Amino acid sequence: ETITIQELANRMSERGVDVIRLLMKQGQMHKITDVIDADTAQLVAEELGHTVRRVAESDVEEGLFDTPDMDAENLVSRPPVVTIMGHVDHGKTSLLDAIRQTNVVSGEAGGITQHIGAYQVTSPLGGKITFIDTPGHAAFTAMRARGAKVTDIVVLVVAADDGVMPQTAEAVAHAKAAGVPLIVAVNKIDKPNADPQRVRTELLQHEIVVESLGGDTLEFEVSALKRTGLETLLEGLQLQAEILDLRVDAGRSAEGTVIEAKLDRGRGPVATVLVQRGTLRPGDIVVAGAEFGRVRALVNDQGGMVKEAGPSVPVEVLGFNGTPEAGDRVAVVESEARAREITEYRSRVKRERQAARGGAAAGRTLAEMMRDLKESAGRKEFNLVIKGDVQGSVEAISGALDKLGTDEVAARVLHAGVGGITESDITLAGASGAVVVGFNVRAHKEAREAAERAGVEIRYYNIIYDLVDDVKAAMSGLLAPTL
Ligand code: GDP
Repeated sequence: ETITIQELANRMSERGVDVIRLLMKQGQMHKITDVIDADTAQLVAEELGHTVRRVAESDVEEGLFDTPDMDAENLVSRPPVVTIMGHVDHGKTSLLDAIRQTNVVSGEAGGITQHIGAYQVTSPLGGKITFIDTPGHAAFTAMRARGAKVTDIVVLVVAADDGVMPQTAEAVAHAKAAGVPLIVAVNKIDKPNADPQRVRTELLQHEIVVESLGGDTLEFEVSALKRTGLETLLEGLQLQAEILDLRVDAGRSAEGTVIEAKLDRGRGPVATVLVQRGTLRPGDIVVAGAEFGRVRALVNDQGGMVKEAGPSVPVEVLGFNGTPEAGDRVAVVESEARAREITEYRSRVKRERQAARGGAAAGRTLAEMMRDLKESAGRKEFNLVIKGDVQGSVEAISGALDKLGTDEVAARVLHAGVGGITESDITLAGASGAVVVGFNVRAHKEAREAAERAGVEIRYYNIIYDLVDDVKAAMSGLLAPTL
């Protein structure tokens, strides 16, 4: 634990030069930007007549999130939160727009919807459903990488005239890695060359067995363009939600996640928050990441001001002092002092981590993964994302790695696919603590940059034996008795 002299001085409301002078008297020469350790800082503070209270992460963050909902009788069922994923051009945006239109009361004033990052509709069965308005797995996985679990159900869109494509497979991998149930929407069934049966059989290769083939994955044929099948899809989502039995306490203080945030010229920082438990109201003091504020107003997806937002309701929150980041978790706290304590602590930790890592974010190397695994109990797994030049080699690698598994340790292939290493592979790996392996393929430029940012390791091979050998060596290293 360290602190800069400037920051220490700020926190004591002392002048930096006085701190430097005091350190000088003790024989230490420093500049204002120098970093000193916590013990030295404590001595300085006491010398200047301040009482010191060191805060640990556990103190600051305690009770902020995931405190259990205590009163069982307060539990109410909440609407499901749905993310739409699928291959590019298969109709994700069209479907989101079409679903939103099902609920716009035509001719009514205020029926103009505005894009705030998420919206809510009512299914024909009467239940509400919340949709995240950013299609695709990039946003989904980026949020997951930040520890935010937002999505309850993934709708996998597959165009009936195109079938299962690389990003369809990726979406399946992302949903599986996150443990989120998935339902299939076969889109573009209005097209003359639509072949929904082909979609069903192709999905089998990705271990998705739809109902009509005897499995338990719900499937719906839709046309976003002609707006057919949408009501049945909404009904299906409500049924799936009932199976999930999503219950939370609506009476408690609110918790949620920032879906998107921007600095608005007229309104200041605006954050769209998806409330996940409890109820958010104007006047509440909220923290999100390193920002806080008092809720000045709540604006819903129809552009109207609301007095409160309960579980699964997306609202724009006005009143933040700064702009939080998408994926930041939101909590209501009891006082501004507490909010300040939390956010100051978080900004400091963030700065220190960035300094320590030289700017790189989370993510692990193979070596770090091995070390962590050594420390974890039970059957040890390490996660891999594999990309190869041809299907045959990808299958051979997955098969070979599967065989290496023992009762104690196993390689878990989160996603295996054909083609170059993409940014999406990196986000998946980053969110799941995996290493990315390229067999006879390279990483795209964006992917390399993303990997660097996220601190995800990419390893390249052109001989299967070498790859398997490396993994085997790592595993036996794991199994070797530790001294
Ligand atoms: P996204 O990339 O998955 O978001 O796909 P878009 O929603 O942008 O759709 C890609 C293209 O497919 C657009 O030209 C749409 O008009 C078209 N499209 C989307 N849904 C349908 C549909 O149900 N039927 C037909 N015929 N075209 C569709």
